[in-house]
Amino acid sequence: LLVIGGGVNGTGIARDAAGRGYSVMLCEMNDLASGTSSAATKLVHGGLRYLEYYEFRLVHEALAEREVLWAAAPHIIWPMRFVLPHVKGMRPAWFLRLGLFIYDSLGGRKLLPATKTLDLRTAAVGKPLKKQFGTAFEYSDGWVNDARLVALNARDAADRGAVVRTRSKVISARREGALWRVEIEGRNGRESATARMLVNAAGPWVDTVMTRALGEGGAHNVRLVKGSHIVTRKLYEHDRCYFFQNADGRPVFAIPYENDFTLIGTTDLDYAGDPAEVKISDEETEYLLKAVSEYFETPVTEADIVWAYSGVRPLFDDGASASKEATRDYVLKIEGGDGTAPLLNVFGGKLTTYRRLAQKAVDMIGETIGAKGAHWTKTGTLPGGDFPPEGFEALVAELGRAYPGLDGKLIRRLARAYGTKTRALLGGAKSATDLGEAFGAGLTAREVDYLMAEEWALNAEDVLWR
Ligand code: FAD
Repeated sequence: LLVIGGGVNGTGIARDAAGRGYSVMLCEMNDLASGTSSAATKLVHGGLRYLEYYEFRLVHEALAEREVLWAAAPHIIWPMRFVLPHVKGMRPAWFLRLGLFIYDSLGGRKLLPATKTLDLRTAAVGKPLKKQFGTAFEYSDGWVNDARLVALNARDAADRGAVVRTRSKVISARREGALWRVEIEGRNGRESATARMLVNAAGPWVDTVMTRALGEGGAHNVRLVKGSHIVTRKLYEHDRCYFFQNADGRPVFAIPYENDFTLIGTTDLDYAGDPAEVKISDEETEYLLKAVSEYFETPVTEADIVWAYSGVRPLFDDGASASKEATRDYVLKIEGGDGTAPLLNVFGGKLTTYRRLAQKAVDMIGETIGAKGAHWTKTGTLPGGDFPPEGFEALVAELGRAYPGLDGKLIRRLARAYGTKTRALLGGAKSATDLGEAFGAGLTAREVDYLMAEEWALNAEDVLWR
């Protein structure tokens, strides 16, 4: 199998397929997670608002995945509580409560706490908000470090035998009978590979790959929808997220981010440009600032912004008129087979449903070129995630005892990134000097070496952005 695309879907498919016994190679033209998979809101969520578009299949699957993914990687995925204030003149309180009742019931929760009703006039989470808000609902969803989710899927795929190539662009793929001949442009020039089956998991570039590399003129299967986020200095002290209803019916989230910041997003705009060039516009910045300033007592202004990022959702084009209504569900399609080399195209999807998407994709691959192995990812952990879902603090404490000479804050950060693999990274280090050159903000030569040896980091940017 040759998988094009090192985002969450490509690495997820490579991992599942390698684990079932296929011989797999994955090619990513830039760094792992350099596309949409590091530009998300980073929620492992059912998608409360998709209930309004009757996307019950998607919401049900996504809700059920929250605890599956949390258990697979409790270092990079954890639960979060979301506060949804009721606003007079918008969705009625009974409607929100009903939606959340469905949300709580649909997803087979075991560990995640249920929805509760809050009085914002007395609850601590009401403090940063304007005084006009009375009732709010607090419900559960999850958080994921999206870029690391991709890197860990790639690592696990490689541990199970897959070959992972970054900075390797698939520039052409042609059928030679029952095989594909694939041309790859890599760091050391061009090379070719043969494969029995090709998987096109190029995200926003899925149509470009079909047109340019596969020579299928005029492919138009995805609708590119841009979403931008702003990051501000920390706007409030507690650990809850806010789900604010905006006047246009869309939600805007405010989420505690990387200790010192607040993440605010997102927008939903049709996009026609090059996905690699996507960036936030002044109108989007204004939209996000205005949306949150309707809620926070202290208005949020441009001066509070420290960073912004944008990404492009590669949504399956279902002909919806508004970008906010286009389906978030994924679609998998096979072309060829029966004597000609088969191709699987991946359209749409979410971080949250990547594992289910991958499982279904590998089932379809099996139906096409011969089945191997059974489903295994539902209970398989990702590298470093082999500890109990609620055991993160215990892991930090254990690492603290094992490395008494190292700074507690550094240990906590490493545990969040590498989980139980932190021991492999730190080795026999007794003190900070054993970790080699310090580059600032807790980054040391030891960690860079680990990222290069284990996670395909090739330059400073790869390390920084992950
Ligand atoms: P990508 O991550 O874009 O990966 C495709 C890869 O293919 C790229 O890395 C690209 O470089 C590579 N590629 C392209 N062409 C070639 C080629 N010729 N050769 C080799 N490699 C190639 N989902 C959630 O579950 N929760 C959220 O909170 C959430 N928020 C989102 C917010 C925004 C603003 C956006 C844009 C998306 C959000 N999503 C969310 C959705 C989620 O991020 C995407 O569905 C997912 O990341 C898509 O992954 P992918 O692997 O299909 O695409």
